[in-house]
Amino acid sequence: MYNAKAYSAASATSPLASTTIPRRDPVDNDVQIEILFCGICHSDLHQVRNEWSEAMPTVYPCVPGHEIVGRVTSVGSAVTAFKAGDLAAVGCMVDSDRTCPECQAGQEQFCPNFILTYNFPDSHGTAPVTYGGYSDGIVVDEKFVLRVPPNLDLAGVAPLLCAGITTFSPMRHWNVSKGKKVGVVGLGGLGHMGVKFAHALGAHVVVFTTSPNKKEDALRLGADEVVISKNADEMKKHAGSFNFILDAVSADHDINAYLGLLARDGNLTLVGAPEKPLAISAFNLIMGRRSLSGSPIGGIAETQEMLDFCGEHNITADVEVIPIQKVNEAYERLLKSDVKYRFSIDMASLKA
Ligand code: NAP
Ligand code: ZN
Repeated sequence: MYNAKAYSAASATSPLASTTIPRRDPVDNDVQIEILFCGICHSDLHQVRNEWSEAMPTVYPCVPGHEIVGRVTSVGSAVTAFKAGDLAAVGCMVDSDRTCPECQAGQEQFCPNFILTYNFPDSHGTAPVTYGGYSDGIVVDEKFVLRVPPNLDLAGVAPLLCAGITTFSPMRHWNVSKGKKVGVVGLGGLGHMGVKFAHALGAHVVVFTTSPNKKEDALRLGADEVVISKNADEMKKHAGSFNFILDAVSADHDINAYLGLLARDGNLTLVGAPEKPLAISAFNLIMGRRSLSGSPIGGIAETQEMLDFCGEHNITADVEVIPIQKVNEAYERLLKSDVKYRFSIDMASLKA
């Protein structure tokens, strides 16, 4: 074991602060990575503040971060896909049981025994729980390490590992493509990636935002239309017209307003995970045989496919790069929807 530098929260009400954490020495199949950038996902904030206490209670100290990109510093004796010096990335999962039908199908995100990158029991026993990417390094089994296309800016690559795959995966599942009308609700970290992917996949994209000042950006990011969701008249114009809507909102909101915009057999997929339950009107689903579903991140193979797609289409997240010392300020700004459109932490700042 060795010590890595990190930022952790000591309780649901404590700010994140500098600390050291244990990391395992790389064993046979491990890849040791120096972390260069780590994105700030709203899930980090939910988890640090124990807002998902029922589904996934937080164990403290908590080191968040699951949008990790860096450089390989060493590999275990059995590793074949990576060598020291390679670029490498890690997302929301660091292991799974590898034997269940979901793992066999390459859908590790549905494995009942998956291990998330932070706040999950550490099967190696290095620490009580896994510690995430707000750190100078991490050690991960090569099966859960992704290859990074060489042409992309690394600060903007980090958010692809969660915001990217979480929006890419349901869009592929629901066949977002040319000729489809697609809505994206909430222009934050996830939402802005959703817009980029839906546009790249050829759909007609409509952004729903509560922030009028994001209108120009939404169009620049690839939206064909922008609706200010507080404006009932603007909303009404789109009634019954969408094939697919991706809801990426982090807080309580009226989902019925969007269900009513779906066409017959249209689907609304929730990727946003607000703290409190959402109310659903049955008639909004019954009329038009509409469906409502959710979607978690994506499997490892699909995450690689997404990264390769981004390499081909030159897609990265729009980021504001910050030093780790500004992480608590960044969380407050995230709550005010004041980020364009993802904070990416420059981990070199951890050395300061
Ligand atoms: P984010 O950057 O904070 O974006 C959330 C956006 O939601 C905001 O930019 C804002 O967009 C909108 N919003 C915020 N408060 C709102 C309110 N009260 N009413 C209406 N709209 C509001 O967050 P994120 O990192 O993209 O994450 C979004 C959600 O997805 C979080 O709940 C996160 O935990 C969840 N998540 C889920 C998965 C998964 O696997 N399913 C993976 C990652 C994250 P506008 O300013 O445009 O209105
Ligand atoms: Zn995330």
